[in-house]
Amino acid sequence: MPTGARLSRAPGFSGYVSSGAETFAEHHFARQNDRILPDTMPRIASRVSQLTGEGALAVYSRAKELERAGRSIIHLELGEPDFHPAAPVVDALRDAAAAGRDRYVSTRGISELREAIADYLKRTRRLEVTPEQVLVAPGCKMALSLAMMALIEPGDEVLYPDPGFPIYPSFTRGLGATAVPFGLEGKHNFQPDLDEIAAKITTRTTALIFNSPNNPTGTVFNAEALRKIAELAEKHDLWILSDEIYARILFDGEYQSIWSLPGVAERTVIIDGFSKSFAMTGWRLGYAVAAKRVVDAMDLLVLNTFTCVAEFTQVAAIEALRDSTHAVDAMVAEYRKRRDLFVSGLNGIPGFRCQTPGGAFYAWVNIEETGLAAEDVAKLLLEEAGVAGIAGAAFGGGGKNYLRFSLVSARHSLEDALERMQRVASRWRAAVAR
Ligand code: PLP
Repeated sequence: MPTGARLSRAPGFSGYVSSGAETFAEHHFARQNDRILPDTMPRIASRVSQLTGEGALAVYSRAKELERAGRSIIHLELGEPDFHPAAPVVDALRDAAAAGRDRYVSTRGISELREAIADYLKRTRRLEVTPEQVLVAPGCKMALSLAMMALIEPGDEVLYPDPGFPIYPSFTRGLGATAVPFGLEGKHNFQPDLDEIAAKITTRTTALIFNSPNNPTGTVFNAEALRKIAELAEKHDLWILSDEIYARILFDGEYQSIWSLPGVAERTVIIDGFSKSFAMTGWRLGYAVAAKRVVDAMDLLVLNTFTCVAEFTQVAAIEALRDSTHAVDAMVAEYRKRRDLFVSGLNGIPGFRCQTPGGAFYAWVNIEETGLAAEDVAKLLLEEAGVAGIAGAAFGGGGKNYLRFSLVSARHSLEDALERMQRVASRWRAAVAR
């Protein structure tokens, strides 16, 4: 607070307020340094005000409220598989806990699991990774935030996809950096526009985050996009954060990780985990793959925060990677059937247009032709049809005219959802006909 500013008690407020206009920074400076504010509450660090939540949870609570009031709701809002892990994975967890594998363990993950992850990436993605380049974390989000804490400085600029996973810009801002969106537009089949990315790189850009297959569009970045991102990263000395959490949920071809391109591994961090491919959301298991010096930095952050991931879940994760019952292929086959059924059904609803996603388990639907705002369509669908989806703005400005539905309900529920949507579509059918 500038010296000499007058303080007065504000009605209904426990501290004092300045009589003069006070900037945000001054306000915080005053609260930190002004010892004459004995009854002011201790402050929350300003970085928290930079963070935002995830839209899906708000829709989920409203949907639950409607269910409690007796309504039938088809939940297509959360990105949580309706499957559970394969039986041998649950058995492995039980056995590990019974065998006393419940102690503090290595901060970067038990060596058997890090070896299993390196081997799994070789088998499924043809990547050359050593166990010392792997760090295990409680969930992909934690692996991502450790990597971001290790690599991003305040004042840096970080490129991220829009639409995309909302945590990328949120956590970037939380670290005091600037989040710079690059578009994934329908007219480019949701592939990144590399000219746009190149134009947005400045001397302060230090990292580019992307996610392929993408949440929410389901786009698998093509070989040209990966090659050009790699070239730009090399030219401008950028970190690449490649979120590969949906790499196994791929409907055509073989997954290509940017890590495999020449010269890229040194500047790349792969983020992956067990939540989606192995239907283990609540187990909180993820990992990062990076150059050893990056893993060492992240390891120190682990030591200073959560110490280690529970050993018994790590032992079970080895069983998940072994996948002795071929559970992943079975789940992906089912997601493919759901995708085919749901996407063709959506394209039959007046005003809806949906491209076929190449991976992940989402349908990303353009609703522009309904003449309504996406929020209004989402509300009508939830309140009147009992179908819960998310208005696309939850994934960034590029999602303004879209809805996201997760393919995490059985096919008969998806058919039911399509019928319900057809019925409600009468509300906007006239606008589409014009
Ligand atoms: N990355 C992306 C792109 C996601 O969609 C999600 C979950 O929705 C996550 C990371 C978080 O994964 P986890 O639950 O393992 O933290």
